[in-house]
Amino acid sequence: MSSRRNFIEKLSITAVGLPLLHSPAQLFASSTEPYDGPILKVAIMGLGSYGTRVAKAMEDCKRAKLVGVISGTPSKIKKWQSKYNLPDKNCYNYENFDAIKDNPDIDAVYVITPNGLHKDQSIRVAEAGKHVICEKPMGVNAEEGQAMVDACNAANVKLLIGYRMHFEPKTVAVIQMRKDGAFGETKFFQGQSGFTIGDPTQWRLNKELSGGGAMMDIGIYSINGARYMLGEEPAWVTAQETKTNPEKFKEGIDETIQFQMGFPSGAVANCLSTYNMNNLDRFFMTGSKGFVEMQPSTGYGPIEGKTHKGKLTQPHVTHQTLQMDGMAALIFEGVQPIVPVDGEEGVKDMKIIDAIFLAAKTRDKVML
Ligand code: NDP
Repeated sequence: MSSRRNFIEKLSITAVGLPLLHSPAQLFASSTEPYDGPILKVAIMGLGSYGTRVAKAMEDCKRAKLVGVISGTPSKIKKWQSKYNLPDKNCYNYENFDAIKDNPDIDAVYVITPNGLHKDQSIRVAEAGKHVICEKPMGVNAEEGQAMVDACNAANVKLLIGYRMHFEPKTVAVIQMRKDGAFGETKFFQGQSGFTIGDPTQWRLNKELSGGGAMMDIGIYSINGARYMLGEEPAWVTAQETKTNPEKFKEGIDETIQFQMGFPSGAVANCLSTYNMNNLDRFFMTGSKGFVEMQPSTGYGPIEGKTHKGKLTQPHVTHQTLQMDGMAALIFEGVQPIVPVDGEEGVKDMKIIDAIFLAAKTRDKVML
């Protein structure tokens, strides 16, 4: 039997007959077993710090391969061409990449540019008939996110958001425990996401390119985490903003926001998002039967954590390697991760970010 069939047969099957998810064990097995199925041919757009990390992680992928680039910097293109053996015909700039439409070598474009550029670039990729993988945050607000979803639906291509934690084995194990009822009724989530940001001239502190400050960049992990740890969508948010350096964190660039979310079951979340404190990468969730604590919870890993049943022991695999193999399995086989990574999932986070910004400004409770 081919290893590909082997792989597919190991997947859980839902009632509607679609493969459901990779369990942590399946994730590891799929990363080490031989594979002879289709390969997702990917071009990376934006050869910056995270694009470089993704490209390196893809060297170990079995279902995805870097085959091209889109960049505004010719010297980087040259360097990547020689490092990854990329032919001239698979290299584009921001002016000419619509021509990717006529390039059968490329199946998908991974947009890893500043947040404020994601919407227009993703829509152009969709209109060129290629699948879009876009980094978080998918845009700078929910309206942009929805426009991306609509454009990808109209072009009949997939839109996937770079939610690497949805493939991370300890995270997947905790979500599975929650689904299996190991924590009982989920009651409370605490998420702390932040770091001290340096260079004041970087695009992350430029409203037009970033769409906001810490919340867009790192606070989004606590929002997304609250949703997958509690297993519910929030009904309301409240938020309080503090700014110690208005020169560095100008109008529209949040430095620190504390926010709370209330869920239909009665569960609550209390979170911190900041660009002005270090050592903040921690999730805690408690339910009626048990708890989980993860620290670090969303960094590049290894993720560390424990539950009321003991330490989380799933081995570390480079997140972006699992993510890109998982996204290839999703595109080719319809294999869904334990929590979605599609455009609709991205829009849910963007709606909450919009509500948090509004709540911080008005000091009102904002209903979702
Ligand atoms: P960088 O600044 O390191 O890289 C961004 C790249 O985008 C640049 O190198 C450049 O590449 C390209 N670019 C195009 N236009 C502009 C512009 N006007 N200003 C600046 N750069 C431009 O950023 P990151 O790689 O850290 O972040 C990129 C995206 O990835 C963001 O959306 C961020 O939120 C996300 N990210 C996600 C992470 C995750 O863990 N999922 C972690 C880190 C970032 P070129 O010269 O090739 O055109």
